[in-house]
Amino acid sequence: MKIALISFHSSPLETLGEKDAGGMNVYIQRLSEGLMELGHSVDIFSRAFNSDITNIEFHDENEFESIVRNLHFNAGSYDLDKSQFIDYLDEFVDKVIGFCDKNDLKYDLISSHYWLSAIIGQKLSDYWHIPHVTTFHTLAEIKLSLGVEDGTDLQFRSKSEKEIIQSVDAIVASTDLEKQDLISKYDAPETKIQSISPGVNLDLFKSIDRSESRRILNLDLQENIVLFVGRIDSLKGIDYLVEAMRQLGQKFPFRLQLVGGSLHASPELNELKSKIQEADLTDRVDIIGSVSQEKLVYYYNSCDIFVMPSLHESFGLAALEAMACGIPVVVSDVGGLKTFVTDSETGFLVAPANANEIAVRIALLLENDSLRNQMGEKAQIQAGSRTWEITSQKIAFLYSSLC
Ligand code: UDP
Repeated sequence: MKIALISFHSSPLETLGEKDAGGMNVYIQRLSEGLMELGHSVDIFSRAFNSDITNIEFHDENEFESIVRNLHFNAGSYDLDKSQFIDYLDEFVDKVIGFCDKNDLKYDLISSHYWLSAIIGQKLSDYWHIPHVTTFHTLAEIKLSLGVEDGTDLQFRSKSEKEIIQSVDAIVASTDLEKQDLISKYDAPETKIQSISPGVNLDLFKSIDRSESRRILNLDLQENIVLFVGRIDSLKGIDYLVEAMRQLGQKFPFRLQLVGGSLHASPELNELKSKIQEADLTDRVDIIGSVSQEKLVYYYNSCDIFVMPSLHESFGLAALEAMACGIPVVVSDVGGLKTFVTDSETGFLVAPANANEIAVRIALLLENDSLRNQMGEKAQIQAGSRTWEITSQKIAFLYSSLC
């Protein structure tokens, strides 16, 4: 199959952990590679996000066998606010059609990611008369139900998502929970939705000696280390983790490492810093910023406990990566997280927005080395059953059934 993959608002080439680049970018990259390994070709169409990236490198069409290509098109300024993305969808569609006509590119199927790309995907699907499969990654109705604002018109987005659901040929949900949300909140036809779990890169995320990892990162060999990995976003619930660490106070000497997010001044970062200052934890919390996945593996292997205190999480790849490294996790009992963490077996599920529960679970694990080790071992086994190879095979099977 030749697949046109639409990732309009965020390119897989953007720095992971910054701005909007996170799980979806990893998903697209890994899925595309997985499809390529199965003999398919994937062209990924994204909005140009800086001036170095606007030139499209285009090769001979004969090379278009089992490859992944990243194609970028100018649509709005590089630093466009996400509330304005919607104004540039038609321009992007025109550019993609023009480019494909000029280069005689033809596809068998469109795979779109996130609601903005799904709007584009549907327009292209109608124009090219080929099937369209979408993955939403996040849903407006979930944000609305949580009362979370993100600077965009969520009512409009929800209406668009409803329309897309009716038009697309199939929808890939990351969990059964997401499938249920699509049915109950959007009246999505059940037969259109397939629940296919994302995976983890087991070649990269695996156990590495803890002391060795700490030496590589220049970390103290004795300290208790609690790790969070993710974008700095209110939905990630980092505030509750900071509050939990304040409650643990002097009882447990610890270091909290926050990996992800840009270190450039932003309202979110300023707020986080003030919270840490108010909790009197400035000396105990490291705000690391975003790091590559190759380096991230040492952070996972250096920590004693991984915490993901999200208010909602479509899936929660970072927690799965930590588990693959043999680390016990304390995660909110929400969304995707509760589908792959077994409470009291591979970690602890805690109520969202509850600092006290997070503190109690962290204390229990820090006090009990054997419990921590046992849970870490079980976590690694549990994570091992979810690989990108399996994800890609299931998605390729779905795509083929539509072509
Ligand atoms: N990530 C990374 N570097 C960072 C922060 C995050 O490579 O500094 C990656 C992380 O390994 C994971 C993804 O970004 O694969 C985040 O996905 P997750 O599902 O945890 O969160 P999302 O971004 O989807 O909310």
